[in-house]
Amino acid sequence: MNVFDTLIIGAGPCGIRTAIVLKEAGLNVAIIEGSSPGGKINIAPRVDNYPGFKKIPGPDLAVEFFSWLNEAKVEMIADVVTSLTKENDIFVVECETAKYYAKTVMVASGTKERKLGLPKEEKLFGHGLTYCAMCDGHFFKGKDVLMIGGGNTALKEAIYMATLAHHVYLIHRRNEFRGSNYLVKELRELPNTTVLTPYIPIELIGEDCLEGVKIQNVETKEEQVLVVQGVFPLVGQIPNSQFIKIPGVTNEWGTIPVDNKTKQTSVEGLYAGGDILPRDIRQIYLSEVDGKAAARAIIEYLNK
Ligand SMILES: Cc1cc2nc3c(=O)[nH]c(=O)nc-3n(C[C@H](O)[C@H](O)[C@H](O)COP(=O)(O)OP(=O)(O)OC[C@H]3O[C@@H](n4cnc5c(N)ncnc54)[C@H](O)[C@@H]3O)c2cc1C
Repeated sequence: MNVFDTLIIGAGPCGIRTAIVLKEAGLNVAIIEGSSPGGKINIAPRVDNYPGFKKIPGPDLAVEFFSWLNEAKVEMIADVVTSLTKENDIFVVECETAKYYAKTVMVASGTKERKLGLPKEEKLFGHGLTYCAMCDGHFFKGKDVLMIGGGNTALKEAIYMATLAHHVYLIHRRNEFRGSNYLVKELRELPNTTVLTPYIPIELIGEDCLEGVKIQNVETKEEQVLVVQGVFPLVGQIPNSQFIKIPGVTNEWGTIPVDNKTKQTSVEGLYAGGDILPRDIRQIYLSEVDGKAAARAIIEYLNK
């Protein structure tokens, strides 16, 4: 039975940084990725604040990350992790197509998009409703679209969509935005955007494809229909932690509390970092710092 020193779940910035440091230290390490290496950066239209790059399209930065991983010659396993357990001090990582064993595990699996919870959301997914402007924005060239959300992701994706769509509406349930002021200003100044607050979506209109969205003013209860061909719910994140079958690792929200210094979870030998941690600000450099800190702690732990 091949037992890895460390298995890393997720090849986003956190997992990649952890893998590179551990590989450089000579450990027997592999990284398991169920989708595209680079993680969330792949769907970021623009990364504004990554050291060394003034502004860079997310997919281009993801390619850089992947090339660093390749240069370090880290073993990459393309599979989806379905279960993580611990048996007799060894972690068992079950994937869709194989099973792996490791002395330590780093969970760097990030988050996925939260749904609106409205009827027809699933039915209209891919038929006018999408959670990623970077991936699907080109389908809405010259059309009218609605973005929903008040964080940096919603603001950035709205700014990006304004370069493609005929008109971009953005609604947010509060008058104040969680996202940066400079992005709100940039969005408001664009000629083909309308920002509406405090509004929530209450109905998705259309049977086979989206034809509009009914929205409601949270304060006055006034309702109106926005005739749009595309809607982008960008209302938060859900941690990718459902595969963790070890009790007490995740909290009630599904994020993973860790020791601040070592990034160790409540279980010895199990570490976590990046967007999966309970935190308000989710950024590439924070994920990398977590990866580096965890890697150092893993090396110390395995040397004991
Ligand atoms: C639109 C947008 C714009 C952004 N702009 C910026 C910016 O300008 N600057 C900045 O610093 N940050 C930005 N971010 C945030 C940044 O992308 C994230 O903070 C960062 O990517 C988190 O890294 P991570 O490694 O923790 O997780 P992720 O990047 O989410 O990577 C997690 C990886 O784990 C994989 N995975 C999940 N579950 C499994 C499983 N069961 N099995 C196998 N693999 C699995 C996923 O496929 C994914 O590749 C932006 C994000 C978005 C969405």
